[in-house]
Amino acid sequence: MESLQIRIHGIVQGVGFRPFVHRLVREYGLTGTICNSSSGVELELDGEHERLAAFAEALPLRAPKLAVIERTELRWGRPKGFTDFTILPSLTEEKRNTLLSPDICICDDCLRELLTPGDRRYRYPFINCTNCGPRFTIIKDVPYDRPLTSMGRFPMCPDCEREYHDIENRRYHAQPDCCPVCGPRVFFLDDEGRELPGDAIETARAWLKAGKIVAVKGLGGMHLACLAEDAALVRTLRRRKERDEKPFAVMCRDLAAVRKLCEVTADEEKILTGFRRPIVLLRKKEKAALAHLSENGFLGVMLPYTPLHVLLFGDDLDALVMTSANLSDTPIVYRNGEALERLRGIADGFLLHDRDIQTRCDDSLCWVSGGAEYFARRSRGYVPFPVQLGGELGGILACGAEQKASFCLSREGSVFPSQHIGDLKNAETLAHYEQQIAHFERLFDIKPRLLVCDEHPDYLSTAYAQERAAREGLPLIRAQHHHAHMAACMADNGLAGPCIGLVWDGTGYGEDGTTWGGECLAGDYADFRRLGSIRPIPLMGGDRAVKELDRVAFALLEESGCGTEGIENAALYRQMLCAGFNCPPSSGMGRLFDGVAAILGIKTRASYEGQGAVLLEAAAEEAEGCYPVVLAGEPLRYDWRETVRAIVRERDAGVPVSVIAGRFHNTLIGMALEMLRRVSAETGLRSVVLSGGTFQNQILLRRLPERLRAEGFAVYTHRRVSCNDEGLSLGQLMIAAARSGRALAAGK
Ligand code: ZN
Ligand code: ZN
Ligand code: FE
Repeated sequence: MESLQIRIHGIVQGVGFRPFVHRLVREYGLTGTICNSSSGVELELDGEHERLAAFAEALPLRAPKLAVIERTELRWGRPKGFTDFTILPSLTEEKRNTLLSPDICICDDCLRELLTPGDRRYRYPFINCTNCGPRFTIIKDVPYDRPLTSMGRFPMCPDCEREYHDIENRRYHAQPDCCPVCGPRVFFLDDEGRELPGDAIETARAWLKAGKIVAVKGLGGMHLACLAEDAALVRTLRRRKERDEKPFAVMCRDLAAVRKLCEVTADEEKILTGFRRPIVLLRKKEKAALAHLSENGFLGVMLPYTPLHVLLFGDDLDALVMTSANLSDTPIVYRNGEALERLRGIADGFLLHDRDIQTRCDDSLCWVSGGAEYFARRSRGYVPFPVQLGGELGGILACGAEQKASFCLSREGSVFPSQHIGDLKNAETLAHYEQQIAHFERLFDIKPRLLVCDEHPDYLSTAYAQERAAREGLPLIRAQHHHAHMAACMADNGLAGPCIGLVWDGTGYGEDGTTWGGECLAGDYADFRRLGSIRPIPLMGGDRAVKELDRVAFALLEESGCGTEGIENAALYRQMLCAGFNCPPSSGMGRLFDGVAAILGIKTRASYEGQGAVLLEAAAEEAEGCYPVVLAGEPLRYDWRETVRAIVRERDAGVPVSVIAGRFHNTLIGMALEMLRRVSAETGLRSVVLSGGTFQNQILLRRLPERLRAEGFAVYTHRRVSCNDEGLSLGQLMIAAARSGRALAAGK
């Protein structure tokens, strides 16, 4: 006989880990104890050496799917003389040091019970167990125990209580466990806030089928739902929501329903049906179809993830628009009262319930690339899961950017990225941002000793950081925007540097005070040099050019010596350009895309940022050939004037827009290759990270790495955080860590 102490670090609380261990201990005929500890769980076991060793080997392999075992430590010793297996009370000294689980979609066992007549939770929309259900969105504070969640006000009935305490039961210590006797209830209200009698879910189904718009309370906020196939109805929703053209996400009943609308690869199927249930951007069966839902070639699709969704679809609804319930740039509506007030006039009816959402969390949004998520938005199902980097980062708060705001907090080797926050220029979103920073600091017991923000003097995240640093006497580091993008992609891939960063986005504050965004940098976390960029584009009226794309088109054409006929206000623009008045130069790649989209007549006035680029990508067909590229100067500048002249020539010669758009993509890929060859020759670096919002472009994302790898470059794209400004805070954090002299993990 021997004894084995096993320390397990990772996400092992609130995920059914202890019942699992209990069963495994019995299977292997061992005795001992288990208790929650500061960083996971601790086991003390007695048994024969072989059995203990076999147990230790089986443990990580057979762990529950929600458990994340980061590390186990084994210590052999003399037997302690245990006669049975007992669960000890938690070691309470450091309750906050554990990790919390994200919200998880309904599991197969619960789904079966939900649909089994006679089960005591038959058709009960809040069914859950240790393997599924709400987590992050119902937590008020840690430790993760029922009283500190939204379920605190629902005392368990004797039946639930029994399950909760039975270690053999799937609901052992499932904090949100409940049933129709003791748990929350769902109800349906009309637009006057009157509760309608009858089965709330059936009423909602009837209203949806009758062509009404229904607000549906989800895990992290309200959705607005309506029949997806009804184009006129969807247009009504757009009008009411003041959302003209931005694509809507759709929830489909099952995979078969998804396949009616979109192509689904095996990799995409895996992510769609996985327990995190993000919205996956899938290729439409026909590019031009479903234009009322999405004007580009992709449609954002997700599968039902709560029992309420499952019941809402029933057997006969195939696809519902499921768009976040919010108005323009305000955060997602998540409280019942707020929903009734603010969605009045938008929703015809409300399917609500009395389990409060504590924390807003939007649906995550991703493409699937190389079998994994490539995020446009990392939120529900992933947050508050940390990005593990190893090493010792200490307590740092990275404040992110502004429009796609996010923040990151670090503790030891873990970085906790926030959920999707939104545009801080909206006062309510800014308040949400500040609340979430405080919430994360409390949940993970992090007291930042160092702050880092963007160099942009007008970002509200910068203002927050400055104010807080001054108030708390904390050091503040400023990270250049594109350097932070580069660092984010390096950290995402566990690179220590140095390497080359090709960072293409719309807008970021440059070291010289101008706007950057088509950058080729070389460096590491601590420092960088700007070795490549693009010829700056004068933006008449500054930020107005982000939406009024013909302003960018005018600048490109005028600078290239091309005719500007057909552009409204050309005379005014010419005056502005000549006077140089309010024409800040921008080397943003996003602007170049916008301008070309406008020159081709694809879009001259954008209703959301990046729309020109999205539509130019959607228009592009596979085409041979590319336009001339001129690279010169220091930093090496891509002079787009030759390219613009060639585009105009082809446009005027009647070459189809789809071909020109395709060749424009080829041109940029060729330009990037040539720029990287030269920068590589100068620096001797062969590793390239691709970051910035432009790399949401799936044509660039697929083809540029292929070409680079063919030339022997090591190419890295984002895997765990988004390439757009939402992922920026991770890079800021790494820059701060490096500059503050903290040791960094060398990574892989
Ligand atoms: Zn379950
Ligand atoms: Zn109950
Ligand atoms: Fe950016």
